[in-house]
Amino acid sequence: MLELSALNRILDFDAERGIARVEPGVRVRDLWRHAIPHGWWPAVVPGTMQVSMGGAASMNIHGKNAFAVGTFGDHVLGFTLLTPRGETLVCDRERNADVFFAAISGFGMLGAFTELTVELKRVHSGRLRVWGIPMRNLEDGIAILDDQRGNADYLVGWCDLCAPGAGLGRGVMHRADQLEPGEDEDGKALLRPERQDVPTTLFGVVPKGWIWPGMWCAFHFGFVPMVNALKYRAGYREGWKSPYLQTHGAFHFLLDYVPRWHWMAKPGGLIQFQPFVPAAHAARVLRRVAELAQARGIRPYLGVLKRHRPDPFLMTHGLDGFSMAMDFGVPKSVVGRERLWRLTHEMADVVLEAGGRFYWAKDGTLTSSSFERVHGGDAVRKFRELKARLDPERVLQTDLSRRLMGG
Ligand SMILES: Cc1cc2nc3c(=O)[nH]c(=O)nc-3n(C[C@H](O)[C@H](O)[C@H](O)COP(=O)(O)OP(=O)(O)OC[C@H]3O[C@@H](n4cnc5c(N)ncnc54)[C@H](O)[C@@H]3O)c2cc1C
Repeated sequence: MLELSALNRILDFDAERGIARVEPGVRVRDLWRHAIPHGWWPAVVPGTMQVSMGGAASMNIHGKNAFAVGTFGDHVLGFTLLTPRGETLVCDRERNADVFFAAISGFGMLGAFTELTVELKRVHSGRLRVWGIPMRNLEDGIAILDDQRGNADYLVGWCDLCAPGAGLGRGVMHRADQLEPGEDEDGKALLRPERQDVPTTLFGVVPKGWIWPGMWCAFHFGFVPMVNALKYRAGYREGWKSPYLQTHGAFHFLLDYVPRWHWMAKPGGLIQFQPFVPAAHAARVLRRVAELAQARGIRPYLGVLKRHRPDPFLMTHGLDGFSMAMDFGVPKSVVGRERLWRLTHEMADVVLEAGGRFYWAKDGTLTSSSFERVHGGDAVRKFRELKARLDPERVLQTDLSRRLMGG
């Protein structure tokens, strides 16, 4: 077990150019808190700020702006990697380029990042301009993502995958744009970490710590379809009041402000299944996948739609297309769990037949045959060769690598 969270120093921050040299245990949270007073924000952030720079690079994470700026790796300028043979490799797009493009997205299998240099993006206000756009169904959401991606900075669609028939995937798309210099003078005062935090109470009264029991009840007593339907209707109200201003912290990390939200899925927990499908097949394939889940009587309680673009990393999930993250509660019973796993394999077949991919940070169920089909024989062979060169005794293994690569 390698515990790298104590390697958490920001070694250097160039406030003119927005470039940070960090240790791998620095979290997204540490980086944005350090950078925002200087008018910078990490180029790519996931839905939680607890993720470390090492974890972000090794899974090559994406944000709600993947369609515009690509993945995390696209903003890594270089890193040092300590391999199990004891070598320290300095890697960038010129030096040890093969290792650079494989270790980013290489789920920690080639060595440990000990230092990374990443670029950030300029922000002129502590807020974003946000629109809520109602989506009638999945196809509508896909069309909105494609229409708006030329102008928007961030786009993410929340979909109701419990809705039947033509309404499947209805929901609300959130678009957020950065504010230009001079557009939001008041927002400058929010370029301070403590002004980005969202309130600790809901409606100023209910402590946030009480939210998860409410979520637990909705989850376990069959209210998920009703909550989804209400949220869809609320999307119209949000559409009328749009655009509105929201802090970066609130827009990106709302879930982090609900303590222990994941307890709602106790005792079985939850898994996420996130297919990535080429644009040409996305509407058909994502609908088919969601219909399969409905037909098997295992409905995801949440769906999230995003647009992506390709990137140059060897084991990446990035492609010119769409992803739909589906969150499933895991049944406590062995039989229920097996049914869910079978469903994910069925859905994966549909995705892989269409040339789709998966994102291993979000996978808990697929097997080595899916791994080969996602990346193709050539990429897998190259990755195995690098593994053999940098880690000949296969010291670095995880449950994920054993499941997907046999070690
Ligand atoms: C609530 C929530 C929301 C999320 N939203 C998104 C999202 O919007 N977009 C997205 O892309 N992902 C998202 N994720 C997934 C998350 O970004 C990834 O799983 C990420 O890799 C987790 O990083 P970590 O620091 O927790 O690393 P860990 O989970 O500890 O490790 C992840 C992998 O990185 C490797 N690793 C860690 N440190 C190093 C290092 N120093 N050197 C080499 N390898 C290393 C580990 O071996 C492991 O394989 C989300 C996760 C959660 C829980």
